[in-house]
Amino acid sequence: MKTNELPKYFKNIDDELWFEEVEVEKKDLKISYKVNKCFSYSKSPYQEVALIDTNAFGPCLVLDGVMQTTSADGFIYNEMITHIPVLTHKNPKNVLVIGGGDCGAVRELAKYEELETIDMVELDELVTEECIKFLPEISGGPSFDKRINFKFGDGVEYVKETDIKYDIVMVDSPDPEGPAKDLFGEEFYKNVKRTLKTDGVMVCQSESPMIHRNIIENTRKILKNNFKIVKTYIAFVPTYPGGIWSFTMASDVYDPSNMDANRLPLETRYLTKKIVKSCFDLPNFISDLK
Ligand code: SAM
Repeated sequence: MKTNELPKYFKNIDDELWFEEVEVEKKDLKISYKVNKCFSYSKSPYQEVALIDTNAFGPCLVLDGVMQTTSADGFIYNEMITHIPVLTHKNPKNVLVIGGGDCGAVRELAKYEELETIDMVELDELVTEECIKFLPEISGGPSFDKRINFKFGDGVEYVKETDIKYDIVMVDSPDPEGPAKDLFGEEFYKNVKRTLKTDGVMVCQSESPMIHRNIIENTRKILKNNFKIVKTYIAFVPTYPGGIWSFTMASDVYDPSNMDANRLPLETRYLTKKIVKSCFDLPNFISDLK
């Protein structure tokens, strides 16, 4: 692919191609990756979708100039957003993933034999197609567990309209920009609650405790307005700005401190039974968040 066909977050510096992410909240922070190859770049009706190969993190998915997941560290995020809510719910049978187009989360969910249905509502089918082709380390390639159902469409509309009640809803969203903005609003979370069974559990990625503190506080405020139990946990994801990433879980019934870590599947790369229990032990600067 010729460099002049690529958007301006790809830069030619001394004959090397670099991808430069400008951090959304703090425009004075840039994170750069040397690009070996751009596998594909396209504009879908929703966003710019690029699949690149980097020296430092291998193949990666970039949406609208923002790093989403990499073959080197994507497993950390996907294990954390998946296993913690599944282990917190006592008897989950059906799960809804909103977003999650790279398929890393549904792949983790499929490790649980007790799950009967895994629905994924992703806005942009192109993201999933490209990740199946160019990011098999995360997507798992073209063959999927029979329990996984792809329902391409807007997650905001889906939770407004569906009659299905889920045990777990996972919001695997990008940053709150463009089509994902409403995935951070109160109306959306009220509808997520409507979509859950009375003892349901929900989780969302709630951004960086170093950089997006206002987003975490706003998310926690909305969830506290709608659920009895709200808890934030963290993991270390090197390619996300600030390095530490947060997830926030909510339920009216289940408290993660009672979760059964022994149900953790054997094949995880980041999570251990000890991390499952300790990921809610937050450093002071994070537990200080409202
Ligand atoms: N793990 C990644 C992270 O935290 O940066 C993000 C996972 S995944 C790539 C996010 C997906 O959410 C994208 O594929 C995007 O197309 C999708 N998405 C954005 N807005 C959406 C919406 N309103 N409904 C459903 N999916 C949406």
